[in-house]
Amino acid sequence: MNIFKLVNVMEKKMTPLSIEPNLCTRIISPKGSCNSCIDYCPTNSITIMKNKIEINDQCVECGLCTTVCPTSAISLQRPSLNQLVTDIIQKYAKNERVYLHCKRMPISNSEISSVTVPCLGMIPREVWVSISRMCENLAVYHPVECCRHCEVSQGEDVWRKELGAGEAMSGKRFLITAEIQKSKQQPQYDHNRRSFFTTLFSEIKSTNKLAIQEALGGSEVQSYREKLQDDPMSKVKKEWSAVSTSIVEKVTNESAFPYMNKRKLILEEIMKSDSLQKRNDYRLPTILPDCNFCGACTTLCPTNALSKEEKDRCTTITLQPHKCVDCHLCEDICFFQNILLQGVPNNQLLSKKIALAEKPN
Ligand code: SF4
Ligand code: SF4
Repeated sequence: MNIFKLVNVMEKKMTPLSIEPNLCTRIISPKGSCNSCIDYCPTNSITIMKNKIEINDQCVECGLCTTVCPTSAISLQRPSLNQLVTDIIQKYAKNERVYLHCKRMPISNSEISSVTVPCLGMIPREVWVSISRMCENLAVYHPVECCRHCEVSQGEDVWRKELGAGEAMSGKRFLITAEIQKSKQQPQYDHNRRSFFTTLFSEIKSTNKLAIQEALGGSEVQSYREKLQDDPMSKVKKEWSAVSTSIVEKVTNESAFPYMNKRKLILEEIMKSDSLQKRNDYRLPTILPDCNFCGACTTLCPTNALSKEEKDRCTTITLQPHKCVDCHLCEDICFFQNILLQGVPNNQLLSKKIALAEKPN
């Protein structure tokens, strides 16, 4: 086990913002034109250098940069998007109304069920779509003009834009309210709603168990007290070494592909909804006939959505649509401007592979 790797991973997990410079399109190529995080940061805390992203002490951890970064080169670990969705669903299962609010506008009544986020702008459209399906009575607590007096000056622009996009995609609307109302009665669950949540929680429970088992190499999870009782120390040490290596690899893999969190949420929704499949909310690259197959786009694509293969005397450039995050780096770097991002029906994101261009050698 590489102990330094483990310490590195642990350190990363302690800070709310996770930074993966290898995913930033500006760092990958000087031709990368993205400036979103810098444009939206309310405290001008972000500097992008040759091979690193620096965030200074002025950062207020609002999370806006994480919403606007297409590749999740900067992502928020606490609360993570998955944790946020799970919190909302769990509270919603027990309460008639759940309020979502930012930490600068606290709800002091402990009898009110609420979920706090650093800034509403940290919630991307994919999360709004996901929670709109499961939590119909979620309300956004937003006292009049509160954003106008907030230090996160761009927050309102971002959350209204993302919420609006999420509503358009899901066809559902959230209540935005300046008033908190206590439920007068315990929620009356109907049978379908109760069984929906029972199934959901048992799935979440079994998924976590499976994930732990997978991280431990499929072995049974035994407490260390138990192990010490029936094993000599050497065996415990050997096992710990094997287990910790596998945990490090798993954690490293997850933090290497943080963009998949947003993408996984929306893919699940697209799979379940016919109307969402027909909408055009995402763009994918197409290659024009004059492509000279230099492969620059496939080399620089930060998410490995594009790849070049040579087989049976034929060169093919293929796309894995679920991995493309519309960062437009391929468009920016193609010298001959032969690759273009175009709107496609959402169901194309579900295709496994699309051959974009082929050339017989
Ligand atoms: S890719 Fe992300 S980190 Fe890089 S400039 Fe764009 S928003 Fe910032
Ligand atoms: S295919 Fe192009 S737009 Fe999609 S992730 Fe790769 S570089 Fe970005």
